[in-house]
Amino acid sequence: MKIIEFYRSSQPVLSLEIFPPSMIYPIETVFYTLDELVKLNAHYISITYPGGYNRARTVGIAARIKQQYGIEAQAHLTCVNHTSQELENILAELQNKDVTNIMALRGDLPETPDFDIKNCTYHYANELIEVIKAQGDFGIAAAAHPEGHPDCRRLKEDLYHLKNKVETGADFLITQLFFDNRIYFDFIDKCLSININCPIVPGIMPVLNANQIKKMIYLNGGSMPAKLIKIVDKYGDNPADMEKAGIDYAAGQISDLVADKVAGIHMYTMNKARQITNILEQAGLA
Ligand code: FAD
Repeated sequence: MKIIEFYRSSQPVLSLEIFPPSMIYPIETVFYTLDELVKLNAHYISITYPGGYNRARTVGIAARIKQQYGIEAQAHLTCVNHTSQELENILAELQNKDVTNIMALRGDLPETPDFDIKNCTYHYANELIEVIKAQGDFGIAAAAHPEGHPDCRRLKEDLYHLKNKVETGADFLITQLFFDNRIYFDFIDKCLSININCPIVPGIMPVLNANQIKKMIYLNGGSMPAKLIKIVDKYGDNPADMEKAGIDYAAGQISDLVADKVAGIHMYTMNKARQITNILEQAGLA
């Protein structure tokens, strides 16, 4: 089944994003987490496609989520640094394993000094969407950046590229993390004004410790509202209090979004079942 059908029939759709464990950990570690996360009755679970060797685990985990738990799975796929043949092989493996939903991404660029995206076969997510569509009948999602993608100088251009991804074949969009819902609502208005009419699902990442937030912002861009800065200043040195405040903050963000009738909530779980369960219970989604 294509995931877009969930957004057409029931709202808010709950989705959970996990990442494959690093190669130094057994694959089973992610299934211990999933054994807990599946109790949240999410409509689907998505699995990231990391830059490292553990990317080889994404397809297998997606297939097992479908078989073992009977839950729809969305495998992420990135095009940066992949040849056409490699992408063709991964898509064939997804088809063989009956994984029919893909999150199509450019991918984070390697930080090596000699890396130049011009030398890659594919440069942007819209090209990957074309490759996927040429190979089979997949459900396709793409990423949206409410505060603008960090590489893009003008937000208007970023919106134009976003629209291009939808016109090329993305059924729906999932946003990068944001900590102020006004940024999301404003972004939706801008998308509607240029006729991006598909579901744009807010991606929520809880801040569970003070160090994590810097890392998240370094990697993804985005801004931190004063309300959250105050929380980190107040509780940052006390891990238990910081985690509780981060859970409360994320639950508040979700409740506000759901009250505004968003199409769904996409949780960046960071493979943390207990904290995600607390957040969703507090927000009334579990
Ligand atoms: P694109 O849509 O290709 O955009 C990248 C930049 O290029 C933007 O500045 C855009 O404006 C510009 N652009 C786009 N198309 C064109 C064009 N045709 N011509 C000129 N410029 C263009 N990363 C991973 O490595 N693995 C993951 O599993 C992963 N999962 C993610 C899940 C979600 C929900 C999100 C929001 C992000 C995820 N990322 C992941 C991060 C993502 O790969 C990075 O944000 C990446 O830098 C951009 O990816 P994109 O698909 O949005 O890129």
